[in-house]
Amino acid sequence: MDAIHGFAELGPEAGDLPWDEREFAERARATRRELRNLLMDQGFVAGIGNAYADEILWEAELHPKRRVTTLSDEEMSRFYRALVDVIARGVRDVEAGMPPELGTKIRDHMRVRGHKGKLCPRCGTPIVKSRHGLDDMYLCPRCQPPPKGQIR
Ligand SMILES: [Zn+2]
Repeated sequence: MDAIHGFAELGPEAGDLPWDEREFAERARATRRELRNLLMDQGFVAGIGNAYADEILWEAELHPKRRVTTLSDEEMSRFYRALVDVIARGVRDVEAGMPPELGTKIRDHMRVRGHKGKLCPRCGTPIVKSRHGLDDMYLCPRCQPPPKGQIR
């Protein structure tokens, strides 16, 4: 009904987070969501799409379907740092002067997104592609083990 409803509830820009690690952790845990859904929720943090969600979770060594409430403090710390680092790296690469029409070039810094079957840069296991709702997601099955007792 209200087309601008979504915009009214945008979270802060991913590249300019106003939260330190502790505040991020508190806000994230309060949502009780799965990590990938949380990253892509524009009302939590704005500007993260499929590609960055995959990269952040790979960097953090966390499975996309882990629930935020199951993260240890150390895992939460990795999650926060991966988000900040991956977005900062992406912004730097884009600002390094690659024109928008070379869209595929901009993604050269991606480590897992679009890399199905290529070897994980960290452990050498082939990257897999799977479905996540309506989206494709890429991950390393070794670095990012699925949550116990949960089907992928
Ligand atoms: Zn790996």
